[in-house]
Amino acid sequence: MFSYETIPQYHSDLLNGTTSCVDAVIFYLSKIKDKKHLNAFTQVYGEEALEKARYLDEHRTAGNTIKKLHGVVIALKDVICYKDHPVTAASGILKNFVSVYNATAVERLLAEDAIIIGHTNCDEFAMGSTNENSVYGRVLNALDETKVPGGSSGGSAVAVQAELCMISLGSDTGGSVRQPADFCGIIGLKPTYGRISRYGLIAYASSFDQIGIFGKNVVDIAILLKIIAGKDEFDSTVSGQAIDDYHALQPSFSKPLRIGYLKEAFQSPALDKDIQASMYGFIETQKKHGHTVEAIDFEFLDYIVPAYYILTTAEASSNLSRFDGIRYGFRNVDKKTDLTDLYCRTRSNGFGKEVKRRIMLGTFVLSAGYYEAYFTKAQHVRQLLKEKIKLIFNDFDALILPTAPSTAFSIGEKLDDPIAMYLADIFTVFSNLIGTPSISIPLFWHKNGLPYGLQVMTNHFCELSLLQLSNYWIEQYKSPDLKNLN
Ligand code: GLN
Repeated sequence: MFSYETIPQYHSDLLNGTTSCVDAVIFYLSKIKDKKHLNAFTQVYGEEALEKARYLDEHRTAGNTIKKLHGVVIALKDVICYKDHPVTAASGILKNFVSVYNATAVERLLAEDAIIIGHTNCDEFAMGSTNENSVYGRVLNALDETKVPGGSSGGSAVAVQAELCMISLGSDTGGSVRQPADFCGIIGLKPTYGRISRYGLIAYASSFDQIGIFGKNVVDIAILLKIIAGKDEFDSTVSGQAIDDYHALQPSFSKPLRIGYLKEAFQSPALDKDIQASMYGFIETQKKHGHTVEAIDFEFLDYIVPAYYILTTAEASSNLSRFDGIRYGFRNVDKKTDLTDLYCRTRSNGFGKEVKRRIMLGTFVLSAGYYEAYFTKAQHVRQLLKEKIKLIFNDFDALILPTAPSTAFSIGEKLDDPIAMYLADIFTVFSNLIGTPSISIPLFWHKNGLPYGLQVMTNHFCELSLLQLSNYWIEQYKSPDLKNLN
């Protein structure tokens, strides 16, 4: 039977003939079928995936060299465009919409011979923390089906968690890769803002959005990042900064590490006591290994969630104005409808409740008379945070945080209380406000039986050290083995 560890291991198995791309695709398709009730996928491209696998097997066995993602089976969040395939952002307003081009990230995956197995479920327009705001219905956490997988990239997280693909792409505007990775016991990386092109990623809040990667090991994430990162003529916010060889993962610490943590975050009353104890335990372990760990005063903790929700909803209200019933997908019209009525009916019926809430909130914070009080103030907070992080990274190699204040919530637990839902993003939105890379690595098990992660952040464009540290700490902690899941 097919089994998967890492891309390099898979490639060596392919080359010595112990497995094939067709075996891999058949394995994943049958698992997707078995685990259909998890609702992780919105579309499965089974026939195409098999066809590509057959082609790759023939090509390889004829003696041709293999490309970097030869036969690697990848799933895409339903906000990432894949030419000639549906993309809906899990929204009724994009019903039946088919992509007319590839996202740059997808183009680069395909150029290295990856196999795209399907699109995954998510919160509508990536707005949410539980994957309960989807037109396709909620996604279940494969470790405990009474729990949410986190969001908004819940389907992409579960696809990796439950072995429905090898790696997946999500998007992270305020934690949507790191938090579901934390809830599902896998790794989730959000690169620096500007590391990966956003071309072909359906926009939620453009100055925050970043494509992220889910995997079960750091090597795979490193390989994928190197391929999809870097300059793109279609997205002027992508940096020209050199792309490191991310899979040079053995850390070469010449000196003990200087690790910082935000005092107020570790002492937050919102933080679960078990998680808090593990965070302090982690600090002690690092000190035993000779590293220095210091508390940093962080007086801004209470401002980051409000600043995030003001700025992202403002950007969303503008970004989502393009969905008007004229240009894309769904249109709600009857014979007597005039243009205004068409916009109104389409948007009222096409968008779900949470998306409408955010469009209204964003329109409000941008409106005359309130702009200064909300939008401008939130921009000031963002600026202060950027200045603070500069100072922090003058003194520290890495910053550690919990990824989330609790383990995976029960289904429905926070659905009627949007403020409680928003506040649960307290530890992830910081990195999106300042643009730094951050990762959630699955180091811990709670006494309630659920996994949770450590969030690590490094300075802008320091993904190499972020991945090296992740590898180092995963080795140190021997992260949970999720194989018995299946
Ligand atoms: N939970 C956050 C929100 O609802 C993050 C979403 C995201 O990162 N896409 O905005």
